[in-house]
Amino acid sequence: MIEMHDVYKVYGNGVKALNGVDMKIDQGEFVYVVGPSGSGKSTFIRLMYREEKPTHGVILINGVNVKRVRDWKIPYLRRNIGVVFQDYKLLPNMTAYENVAFAMEAVEAPKRKIRRRVQEVLELVGLHDRMSALPSQLSGGEQQRVSIARAMVNNPSFVIADEPTGNLDPENSWDIMYLLEEINAQGTTVVMATHNREIVNTMRKRVIAIEQGVVVRDEHQGEYGYED
Ligand code: ATP
Ligand code: MG
Repeated sequence: MIEMHDVYKVYGNGVKALNGVDMKIDQGEFVYVVGPSGSGKSTFIRLMYREEKPTHGVILINGVNVKRVRDWKIPYLRRNIGVVFQDYKLLPNMTAYENVAFAMEAVEAPKRKIRRRVQEVLELVGLHDRMSALPSQLSGGEQQRVSIARAMVNNPSFVIADEPTGNLDPENSWDIMYLLEEINAQGTTVVMATHNREIVNTMRKRVIAIEQGVVVRDEHQGEYGYED
């Protein structure tokens, strides 16, 4: 479960990105986070995996107060939280296989487990025949599938994605959405910030709408209600 209690985020430059957010996401939910540009969606997401700390308020991930997690323990917190970005963030000098394996090595998974699990997740995203390709040798859609494999490799409870289809054409976007839906069907909680109106209004899920750092709507099977 992800909980935010009275969460505020003020950046160093004085920008108030979140202004009192209260919400709860249960295990197994699929949630879109929508809202105008600059409304605080990425901040909301970054707080969940402790890329940022809240200025005020409490964030609990399965009951653990993320603000209190010591720096050296962050990789272990993140083992349970797969993260997917708009620009993939793959390491350019590593192959698809190595990018995914790296996420397991970072949490000191036993070596004998790594090869089997990496092959398994790359198969899940349909890239078992491209394991030795570098990111520069893969299309955007393929790179995003590698990043989803990387997010899944440690069997996280949560996958958190910030505009994962933002750089993709409609066909590749839907491929990514079907993957996220499949991952969610296995019990993984998915939280996804998006501007993609068609996806939100077609693949209906819970929608949390943020405006000026405040949750203004939170509806199951909601709609995308913003002009971009
Ligand atoms: P977009 O749809 O454009 O991605 P967003 O909803 O994700 O926007 P955020 O990135 O969360 O919005 O930004 C919320 C506010 O905080 C904006 O005013 C932004 O300029 C500011 N902001 C975001 N990150 C930082 C940062 N690292 N330092 C200072 N201000 C920031
Ligand atoms: Mg953003």
